[in-house]
Amino acid sequence: MLILDVKNLQKTYTTRFGGNQVQALSDVSFSVEKGEYVAIMGESGSGKTTLLNILASLDKPSRGEVWLNGKSIVTLKEKELATFRRNNLGFVFQDFNLLDTFSLQDNIFLPLVLSGKDFNEMRSRLKPIAHKLRIEDILQKFPYEVSGGQKQRAAVARALITNPQLILADEPTGALDSHASDELLRLFTQINNEGQTILMVTHSTKAASHAKRVLFIKDGEVFHQLYKASMSNEEMYQKISDTLAIIATGGVNHE
Ligand code: ADP
Ligand code: MG
Repeated sequence: MLILDVKNLQKTYTTRFGGNQVQALSDVSFSVEKGEYVAIMGESGSGKTTLLNILASLDKPSRGEVWLNGKSIVTLKEKELATFRRNNLGFVFQDFNLLDTFSLQDNIFLPLVLSGKDFNEMRSRLKPIAHKLRIEDILQKFPYEVSGGQKQRAAVARALITNPQLILADEPTGALDSHASDELLRLFTQINNEGQTILMVTHSTKAASHAKRVLFIKDGEVFHQLYKASMSNEEMYQKISDTLAIIATGGVNHE
């Protein structure tokens, strides 16, 4: 079953003065099946953030279609968007995006509070998630009282608590040390093995080597993709490195 279907996405930014145009995405098409774990890689400026913002329905494409869970998100009305986003998407950001004046628990509950769930429902949903993410003992702490890895695990709990169709992660290991980063990647694999669909934008070859498929973006298009299939993380790491080297030198694609 398709969760996400992206068709011929194009995004042109027009600068406010002078009328200069930047084509951030020229023609991006791909789809994601339920249960997949997909990483998107590409050099700085290749359009990753632009793509993620459009998938998150935070920005509109200039052209093209995005179908999420059978709905065309580019045609949703502004007032339907917030609810649609809350009901279908979970977000994990590089810088956690937790509210400093809320305990971790209140941060995690926030999307459910916004959709009007009662406290008992919130508590019973949190229990297994907090256990899985090993944050049960720190739920009453505030973000500034815990480590980066713990903050990111709370952010993952906040993303999971609404049972989203899709988790969108933007450089989720970008601000973590290598130990916390390994732990987060293990958790993503575990969550994915339990059926959660994940789409992750990352610079990190190591992070991408944990995904089941890696898409490479170059010059605003999907340039190449790699399937992990039965490869180990180490073999996948090597394949990704080789592909990035080819992209950097412009190899393959030129006559
Ligand atoms: P990445 O996340 O892969 O580094 P971005 O999606 O941020 O790439 O950017 C892709 C291209 O679009 C870059 O050339 C960037 O300068 C341009 N761009 C991004 N956002 C804007 C904007 N709001 N206005 C104008 N140009 C933009
Ligand atoms: Mg970016």
